[in-house]
Amino acid sequence: MAPRVQLEKAAWRWVESVRPEDIQREHIEIAYRICVPACKRGACRRNCKGNPNCLVGIGEHAWLGEIDENTFHNIDDPNSERRDKNTFVGLTNLGATCYVNTFLQVWFHNLELRRTLYLCQNTRAEEHDMDSDYEPRSICEHLQYLFALLQNSNRRYIDPSGLVKALGLDTGQQQDAQEFSKLFLSLLEDTLSKQKNPNLHNVIQQQFCGQMSYVTVCNQCGRASPLPSRFYELELNIQGHKNLTECVTEFLKEEKLDGDNRYFCESCQSKQNAARRIKLHSLPRVLNLQLMRFVFDRQTGHKKKLNTFISFPEQLDMGPSVQFTIVTRNMFH
Ligand SMILES: [Zn+2]
Ligand SMILES: [Zn+2]
Repeated sequence: MAPRVQLEKAAWRWVESVRPEDIQREHIEIAYRICVPACKRGACRRNCKGNPNCLVGIGEHAWLGEIDENTFHNIDDPNSERRDKNTFVGLTNLGATCYVNTFLQVWFHNLELRRTLYLCQNTRAEEHDMDSDYEPRSICEHLQYLFALLQNSNRRYIDPSGLVKALGLDTGQQQDAQEFSKLFLSLLEDTLSKQKNPNLHNVIQQQFCGQMSYVTVCNQCGRASPLPSRFYELELNIQGHKNLTECVTEFLKEEKLDGDNRYFCESCQSKQNAARRIKLHSLPRVLNLQLMRFVFDRQTGHKKKLNTFISFPEQLDMGPSVQFTIVTRNMFH
């Protein structure tokens, strides 16, 4: 199916040449895309917003697809659902929630965070008897429960819908993964800071938070003014780059402030040309590097995704990128 923008343009093109009093039924049908042919089965991964006749997402693959007799028989075979020894438990994709699952797995595999979650007080779970199923309520309880299942389940995969519902996420809509991780971590940070056990208070910061500053140097007087800041991830531009090191280098590159962007220097008491750069002072134990794959396309006025291949080393030496303070661990795997 043609991209949404193209369909939108095609649907409304007639508006430029047809006077309001001449609008016919056919124009309305074009605008509302009544006659756009249905998408080919299996061609779309999610429901096409530009085509009302796209059938993805209403279960058509089940009722239009071939019936596989084997899977039918396998339902009765508990072994097909059973986890093999020493393999990890997966999470079901609830539609467009792969980005949630990815983060949940990353956080689950962070042992410090997992232990912390298990240590969070949960009186309801402690007082729960075995006669009924335990039902987590708060987001923290859901995450504890999910981690416990990921660790102990006998099944190959489990269903994260409890947590996803508690978070109020729309399962059919792909959300900004980075936004999700930010919101979720700040929610966890908040929950942990209220725990009785003081050892749990700063775990999110210890694991994920680093220190940096934006340093601006005035070209006129040479005065450097640092603006300290914390970060939970580094947002790396990938346009024009082939590997992660290049992206990090660009991130730390000096930026010229001139013309309209001139900088108000406190010592010169006037606007001056200046240079600004980001300096990293300390890195968290887990460094989250976000590749900015979505960029704004001026021509179409829409977001577009960059599918550029970015290679990354198995070990990333961040040593040369960190300044001022001695950091004990700069190698990232
Ligand atoms: Zn479609
Ligand atoms: Zn100055």
